[in-house]
Amino acid sequence: MELTVLGSSGSFNGPNGEACSGYLLRAGDTAIWMDCGNGTFGHLQQHVAAEDLTAVVLTHGHPDHCADIYGLHVLLRYGLEIGGLPVYTPEGLDKQLAALVSDWGDTFDWRTIGDGDGDRIGDIDLRFSRTDHPPPTYAIEASAGGKRLVYTADTGPEWSVDAFAPGADLVLSEASYLHEHRRSAIHLSAQQAGAAAREARAQRLILTHLWPFIDRDAVLQEGAEAFGDSVTLAAQHLVTTI
Ligand SMILES: [Zn+2]
Ligand SMILES: [Zn+2]
Repeated sequence: MELTVLGSSGSFNGPNGEACSGYLLRAGDTAIWMDCGNGTFGHLQQHVAAEDLTAVVLTHGHPDHCADIYGLHVLLRYGLEIGGLPVYTPEGLDKQLAALVSDWGDTFDWRTIGDGDGDRIGDIDLRFSRTDHPPPTYAIEASAGGKRLVYTADTGPEWSVDAFAPGADLVLSEASYLHEHRRSAIHLSAQQAGAAAREARAQRLILTHLWPFIDRDAVLQEGAEAFGDSVTLAAQHLVTTI
């Protein structure tokens, strides 16, 4: 599997063009866009053509994870005239998002995800787990070729990557804050993300959903100390093989 970071800015765009949450996951001919945060659609198109997407997954309804679905809708429907792209979302999110469009037409094939659900999309198997975050939010385990990625989506510390999917080859974890600067219990600090990945015996850890003005060096240090090994910070256009 190959993971491409399209954006890693936590909750809002940064002043230097940083996009919010979005990732491209590929294996063979399968291409899944995980989270369509604001700013990620432009970056996506630098890596894959919209018509070559196999599916989209929206982990939850906060705009920094789903706002760019509107751009994809316009391109597919009125530009490419393609319909039926599978979009996996928490229950009812398609109707919430429809408030800003007259209708979705047949552009998307909406599929509801719930806690413990799973599906095979092309060459990639997905499983979902409800996290500790107010709107219904789902972490994703993606498996292909004997390798596993866990993306935490947004979560507070009451959800456990260890309980969901221990021993992953890569954990892509939100780390919105430094521990002493936590602003909200619905997100993780770098320390919490590192400790959770260590508990889950993750092979590698990438920290993402970084508050735009956070001290990157301090995040790296705090995350690595808690993880017990070096960690990587997500940055747009970072590509890594799993
Ligand atoms: Zn978020
Ligand atoms: Zn959120």
